[in-house]
Amino acid sequence: MINLFQPAVGKEELDEVAKVFQSNWLGKGNYVKDFEKGFANNLNVSSEHFLSTTSCTEAIFLSADLFEFSSNDEIIIPSISFPSIGSAVLSSGAKIVFCDVDKRSLNVRADDIKSKITNNTKAVYVTHYGGVPCDMDPIIELCNIHNIKIIEDSACSIKSFYKGKACGTLGDMGMWSFDAMKTLSTADGGMMYIKDLDKRKVAEEKLYLGLPLKQKSGIDSSTQGNSNWWEFEMNRPGRRAIMNNVTGAIGCVQLNKLNKFLQRREYIYNKYYNELKKLDWLEVPPMSNFEYTSSFYFFWIQTKYRDKLARYLLDNGVYTTFRYWPLHKVNLFKEFCVDGDYPNADFAAKYTLNIPLHQELAEDDIQKIITLIKEFNAF
Ligand SMILES: *Cc1c(COP(=O)(O)O)cnc(C)c1O
Repeated sequence: MINLFQPAVGKEELDEVAKVFQSNWLGKGNYVKDFEKGFANNLNVSSEHFLSTTSCTEAIFLSADLFEFSSNDEIIIPSISFPSIGSAVLSSGAKIVFCDVDKRSLNVRADDIKSKITNNTKAVYVTHYGGVPCDMDPIIELCNIHNIKIIEDSACSIKSFYKGKACGTLGDMGMWSFDAMKTLSTADGGMMYIKDLDKRKVAEEKLYLGLPLKQKSGIDSSTQGNSNWWEFEMNRPGRRAIMNNVTGAIGCVQLNKLNKFLQRREYIYNKYYNELKKLDWLEVPPMSNFEYTSSFYFFWIQTKYRDKLARYLLDNGVYTTFRYWPLHKVNLFKEFCVDGDYPNADFAAKYTLNIPLHQELAEDDIQKIITLIKEFNAF
């Protein structure tokens, strides 16, 4: 079976993990710091705004907490979003307000958001679908006027740039994922950007037991210098969702390979694009009319023969899927959908297929996929 996504880890990562073992400190330490700094450098943004965590989902839940969503607030979520966003808002007690997306790019547009704004709108989540940036300037302008926070789910948009600025750093907060299916993978892991540095400090405390920041590693060191060093104070309630040195070490090695990964993905993307755009029974992803760089995370096609094509490819050893199933179709969120319709999200859910795209895809596999799609007898 040709996989949809696949990690690219090997001996270099293992060697670095061996060093962590030898150091005798597996917890959060210098490897994590180096990873945070290296990540920020890759995005050309000061590293003081960045904080690592255990997953992108953790960062999404943290955003609801940091911006203090409460029952009077309305949070706008594009229907085509990752389920964690719906969960985080639901858990916060705030009201979910779904909005539609562009039917070809599956990205949310300023007009989609605008139609859902009320006096109670507090924040909007923006997802850069498949690594292609949303058109952020009109969204930022709109949200500034209405004093709405922008949170960017950049989980799959590592080193995507919108007019030269890194996705995930354009709004008030952004987050990335290093889970097992992402371009840069540490098995599990997440990173976030927080614009407000005071909030960034609060975030760090919330993710480590609520202990005051200056007190570094472990409860016992939080009252170092006291005669009874096991006593401690807490600034706030806290969880424990910090990255460890094993994860950080894998991340540092992956970061060194990232540009190579992205180049390979771009090559595959372009190959699909140029071959498949010739077929008149399907649509390839649209080109945006602003300056941007994609992380080439997804390649997707749209066709009314989607279901038949997916089955045909599966029968021939090629796994495909559709991301992301619209949240307005999920029963858990039904109560928030009563007065809305989302025709473009519905269109996307019916006709879109994501085909394999990862840096480990062999030349033969790429050719096989293209040939299968060309030979698919839809008629
Ligand atoms: C993978 C992904 C997430 C979740 O990341 P985790 O690290 O697995 O929690 C969130 N949003 C998008 C768009 C994703 O692709």
